[in-house]
Amino acid sequence: MLQHATHTISGDGLWLTTEDGRRLLDAASGTFNLPLGYAHPHVVQAVQEQAGRLSHAPSGFTRNASERLGGRLLAHAPAGISRSWIRDATGSTANECAVKIAQKATGRRQVISFFLSHHGQTLATTAMSGNAFRRGSFPAAATAAEALVVPGAYCHRCFYAKSHPNCAVLCATRIEEFLEYASSGSVAALIVEPIQGNGGNAVPPPEFFHEIRRICDRHGIVLIADEVQTALGRTGHMFASEALGLRPDVITLAKGLGGIGLPIGAVLMREELDVLEPHEHSFTGGASILGLTAANAALDVLEEPGFLEQVRINGALLGEALKKLAAEHPCVSDVRGMGYMWGLELSHPDGSRDIPLTHRVIEVAEREFGLVLRGSRYGRGNVVKVRPALIATQDDLAEIVTRLGAALAAAT
Ligand code: PMP
Repeated sequence: MLQHATHTISGDGLWLTTEDGRRLLDAASGTFNLPLGYAHPHVVQAVQEQAGRLSHAPSGFTRNASERLGGRLLAHAPAGISRSWIRDATGSTANECAVKIAQKATGRRQVISFFLSHHGQTLATTAMSGNAFRRGSFPAAATAAEALVVPGAYCHRCFYAKSHPNCAVLCATRIEEFLEYASSGSVAALIVEPIQGNGGNAVPPPEFFHEIRRICDRHGIVLIADEVQTALGRTGHMFASEALGLRPDVITLAKGLGGIGLPIGAVLMREELDVLEPHEHSFTGGASILGLTAANAALDVLEEPGFLEQVRINGALLGEALKKLAAEHPCVSDVRGMGYMWGLELSHPDGSRDIPLTHRVIEVAEREFGLVLRGSRYGRGNVVKVRPALIATQDDLAEIVTRLGAALAAAT
């Protein structure tokens, strides 16, 4: 029996061992959801103990546990965010929850989101994601959420062909025009990733966030920060919003919250937006007792004195090393990010996007240099993402950069 229940793939720390026995250095922390790497002992032990005692109970019995985790998350949340709703298992449904909150609180229905954003793969979040390729495959998505997808901040290839700071963040100020001409006054929410993850690791300038806050205030729109990728230390801060000057009304979390990859999602909000009734948004597998346990155990580690500070210090060094690499490889046209969340944009000599090279670098890195990277097939398509687990030491990061450099040299 046991042989059907176990798998030959395994992982420890930054290393993934494949079914055929290869040891790979994972610079993408799983699906960007393993902040502490593979099989972190503290989280594993907590989950094992919990599984032996109780692995599932109906949500009525786990409400206190959910609220305890909520309290811990809120202690780190940006000012004004004081309530939690922990009933999800994924980032997609956490984002749907945020939209339900905004719709119920405002009595309006539309959602503004940005080109190249990714908010999930349910029908409504497909509609909200700024990826025409995906939306185009599912025309019914447009009936699940009425989304107005507008150009956002992507300074390296500005949608308005401007350059920062002379642009006066036209990408944000234009939103007011869209509101006037295209929305008929029914916008409930604006959803934004503090750093666009799948879209290509785009980091907006702080004025962008100031401006969208002003617009949301002026028009009574709920501002949702989708921190599914960026929260829980990824940028060297518990929440990227805090680091980037974004002051949201609602924050959504998932991915890294499950510590070692257990599914769990959470929604944090301002008090006046705590409007949902329990039966309006909950799932059999949401806020599972194992997910809650993993999240609490992961927070134990993230909250250790100096842990996030080390991520900030190491992350800055990683950024410098990647920029040095870019100087040596002309195909790298931009390096951007913070903490342990970096993207390298690859371009042809004429400046156009080099998508085939991006695929080649990722493939060669894994096949020849044992380094796992991820691309952004559904975003810009020409961004290599470097997002190691937060436990990576300076030596680990140097090793990642060395292997990436070798892959760039071999692929060009
Ligand atoms: N938001 C963002 C920013 C994401 O990156 C993702 C997943 N890539 C999601 C939402 C959806 O999360 P999930 O896959 O857990 O549904």
